[in-house]
Amino acid sequence: MDVTFVGAARTVTGSLHLFEYKKQKFLLECGIFQGHREEAERINSTFPFKPKDIKAVILSHAHIDHSGNLPNLARRGFAGPIYCTSATKDIASLLLRDSAKIQEFDFKYLNKKRAEKGLLPKEPLYTMADAENTIKQLSAVDYDRTFEPVPGVQVTLYDAGHILGSSVILIEADGKRIFFSGDLGRKGMPIIRDPVAVEPVDYMILESTYGGRQHESFDNMQQEFKTLIERAKKKKSKMVIPAFAVERTQLLVTILKNLYDEGCLKNVPVYVDSPLASNVTEVFRRHPECFDAETTKILTEGDPFNFPNLHYVADAEESKSLNDKSGPMIIMSASGMCEGGRVTHHLIHTIGDAQNMIVITGFQARGTLGRQILERAPKVTIFHDEFDVRAKTYFMGGLSAHADGEDLVEYVKASGDGRLKKVFLVHGEIEESQALQQNLRELDLHVDIPQSLTTVSI
Ligand SMILES: [Zn+2]
Ligand SMILES: [Zn+2]
Repeated sequence: MDVTFVGAARTVTGSLHLFEYKKQKFLLECGIFQGHREEAERINSTFPFKPKDIKAVILSHAHIDHSGNLPNLARRGFAGPIYCTSATKDIASLLLRDSAKIQEFDFKYLNKKRAEKGLLPKEPLYTMADAENTIKQLSAVDYDRTFEPVPGVQVTLYDAGHILGSSVILIEADGKRIFFSGDLGRKGMPIIRDPVAVEPVDYMILESTYGGRQHESFDNMQQEFKTLIERAKKKKSKMVIPAFAVERTQLLVTILKNLYDEGCLKNVPVYVDSPLASNVTEVFRRHPECFDAETTKILTEGDPFNFPNLHYVADAEESKSLNDKSGPMIIMSASGMCEGGRVTHHLIHTIGDAQNMIVITGFQARGTLGRQILERAPKVTIFHDEFDVRAKTYFMGGLSAHADGEDLVEYVKASGDGRLKKVFLVHGEIEESQALQQNLRELDLHVDIPQSLTTVSI
């Protein structure tokens, strides 16, 4: 089996790995690279293989950095099945449509600007029609059930505990077992089950997003959240939480539901202002088979994703009306890295006032507005306008949906038994991957951080 690391090699986004077994090619994922426009355009628009030669794709989970370039792959000739869990299929359908919509919108704007300069229009990476065609290629498979994407190769998906429907992937051929983590979750997080350890394995392709860091414990974080809400109440703050539409929003809702039950949210309305997040929450309700025991129990008593103070904001008018309301209030809105979506207009209206709070709850890629806020830039640019950052900014790492450095080392140990020959670290900025490499080498393991387009024979 030849494996070529194509995307998410020495970077986080754009997950894409090419497998070749007896001249049959298949892919693990086809994610979108997120970064500066020109670089992203260049990386996302070309593939180092012919899409029509690819027999199948296996998708670990719905996040756009793992699934978001599939419509482009299909547009360029890939016609095979895309295997994933049923929940991933439903979430990916929403995210791919959303991504197509954003791209069509962005290119309309870009082409208007190009026309003003007398330049020819550019085409978006893919259109809504491409996304719809790709959605038809998504093929649901159950956890723990082995299937054959190409003759002679067996694949099994196990729960990754990262987001609803997420999986780690085991690939078997000629008696060799190759493990791919997708994005690995954490133990003990609400809503979904814990990651499953797969053992034994011969090779691991492992994410390293937080390879060199330790998260705060989830319990500490809930306490911290409570303190922030008390502060918001006292100062009548608007608390803006940029939140990913998938998992993070639902996780925050379940935490706030607990705090509501404890009486902490008296007179503090909570708004989920993201149509995508609301639709994804609907998908969560349709997939109770992915829930952990605790959430399954809550489900028997009512809706785990609702409480009396909570409002799912429906239209843009209602969203804008929040600008005129005074605090305290909590607004959760996407996109999670503040790169677009309704959160940008909430930031415009709150960031300049020291009374307000911005709470970052997830990974912020380099070059994004969220990263600048996280790094406490004194000024930020939103839609070509500059704003002083006077609102108080906080980071709550305890909410991360990714395993941290310690979790990753523990996970590798659990997959061991002396059979493990090599670990390839992907899906991480180089400093994080190197830190994890160091820690894994202390276990006498061979650990590589492959560059993009490196091919290894396994
Ligand atoms: Zn993910
Ligand atoms: Zn990812």
